[in-house]
Order: sequence, then structure tokens, then C-alpha cells
Amino acid sequence: MAEPRVPGGRGAELELPCGESVHVHDLDMGMREYDCDCGDAHAVVMDVHPPSRFVPEFLVDVLRETVDTADETGEFGTMHVMGVVMEEFPGEVASENVEEDQDVGYSLVWVTDFDSRRLHEVVVELVVELMEHAVSHADDSDAMTQFEEAMLDFDVPEFVEQYRRERDFSGPHDTAR
Ligand SMILES: [Zn+2]
Repeated sequence: MAEPRVPGGRGAELELPCGESVHVHDLDMGMREYDCDCGDAHAVVMDVHPPSRFVPEFLVDVLRETVDTADETGEFGTMHVMGVVMEEFPGEVASENVEEDQDVGYSLVWVTDFDSRRLHEVVVELVVELMEHAVSHADDSDAMTQFEEAMLDFDVPEFVEQYRRERDFSGPHDTAR
């Protein structure tokens, strides 16, 4: 898994994939997108954001049970989600470790070249792949068949559209209403 760049430290400046840069103090926890000088909006994610920002809690629970996070990073969470995104799109994600910086309230921050809606779709696609992988290793052909049937009807952009409409994303922890 890709490691965030260290050291960041106090008042770090984050180099964005588009060539612009942003001061970490300009990124607050309630932010989902950063309106960049390049004219694009870039998705902003922090380690304090729960993975349920992207997928429902029950799916997060399934992922926690099935995805092996055999390292010191703890149970499956936003850090793992963004690690997978960085593996898929290495040139399109900037990240910074700011745990030394007491002022910001988060330890890790990621800013992607694409906007938060596109990031949401990317995350859901990757989560589906993770689950497919987990199911295929479960040695249960019924489960695999059920999963594949369920996925035939699964429309990622539609899911994302609905999820974003139904959930409140305004707060730093954006839990279900
Ligand atoms: Zn930009």
C-alpha cells in the first residue's frame, strides 16, 4: 500500500497533481472539495472521515471482516480506501502526513485531481472489486453467484447519485441522518 509522503509537518504545502499547491491550513475537515486556482475542483479526504462517506455502514462492516489489513494500520478504513485509490491512480492523488501539525485536527490528507463525485465513483468501483475478490476466495460458489447476480444490476453512477442525495455530507464526520 502506498504510504503518504513524510515528513509533512507544521504548515505543510501540498503539491497537487495539476501543478498548483495548497497550504494544509486551507483544508478544513468539513471540506469535500477544494476549488483550485487551476479552475478545477479537487476532492479532499482526511483520515478522520469515515469510509461510510462513500459506502453504507453495513458494507464497511463486511469489508472489515473480509479485507485483510495485515499491517499496523488497524481495521479497514478510509486510509485503506485511499491507499487503493492511490495504487490505481498514482499520478492523480496528492497526500500529506500532517500529524505533527496540531492545528489542523487530522493526520492525513489526500487531494485528488478529480472532483469528489468522480472520487466517490472510483471508490465504489474499487470497493466492489475488493468484495468480489473476497467472495471469490470464500470458496463458496453460491456466494459468488449471488454476488455476481447482485452486481449485474448495480449501477455505480446511480448508486453514487442516490447516496450523495440521501446522506448529509456537510459535517466533518458526515454520518447518516
Ligand atoms: Zn488544481
